[in-house]
Amino acid sequence: MRIPFIAGNWKMFKTKADAVKFAEEFKSLYKGTDIQAAICAPFTDLEALAEIFKGTDIKIGAQNVHFADEGAYTGEISVSMLEEIGVDFCIVGHSERRQYFAETDGTVNLKMKRLLDSSIRPIMCVGESLEERDAGKAFDRVRSQLEQGLADIDAEAAVRIVIAYEPIWAIGTGRTATGEQAGQMCEFIRNTLIDLYGEDTADQVIIQYGGSVKPANAAEIMNMAEIDGALVGGASLKAKDFMEIIDF
Ligand code: PEP
Repeated sequence: MRIPFIAGNWKMFKTKADAVKFAEEFKSLYKGTDIQAAICAPFTDLEALAEIFKGTDIKIGAQNVHFADEGAYTGEISVSMLEEIGVDFCIVGHSERRQYFAETDGTVNLKMKRLLDSSIRPIMCVGESLEERDAGKAFDRVRSQLEQGLADIDAEAAVRIVIAYEPIWAIGTGRTATGEQAGQMCEFIRNTLIDLYGEDTADQVIIQYGGSVKPANAAEIMNMAEIDGALVGGASLKAKDFMEIIDF
């Protein structure tokens, strides 16, 4: 049984003071649902969020991590640093990191393996560009990201993975994939996971859609058969909007 999972991705928004304000409001609105909720926040907000959400079902996530245990990697954060402050999830391979910070399928794979060796569950982002979609290459692109990102990860570890399908053309653009487009790709992702791991394992993997999800379209997305949740950028910045999406 897959528990639906909706995560916010704050990107580089909210200082610690902003995060505390949000968390207090969100905690007061949150009455507990059948949906797992999480906020993926900037590193500097995580400890404060962990403290405020302690004792609730609201989880916290980071937006990136380094794959090495420790070392001379100026500006980076390790998995054990995140574990120590109680981080539950970590986004890996977001298209903005692929575009601006040289994230590749190879580094995604290293990060996935390191996270799966820890208590933190990875949310691995995949998705095609507009050019790839227009050229009829969307499915090939996503399959290749899955095969490379999940290389050498076994079925036992794979059940802890969350896959977020985020078509690049729908992120932060206000242009959402239709329920049909999102559902079709998420079904393709499930079938690829069946090829890689077999049906029992693939059935347990949470697949989210991300790309301009907001209160008005959350139900259409969440009601598609192979979509188990959403990764929400802009609309997760306001506690009321994010709560409305969770209550879709
Ligand atoms: C995201 O950043 O993962 C995202 C889906 O952003 P938005 O909801 O703003 O399109």
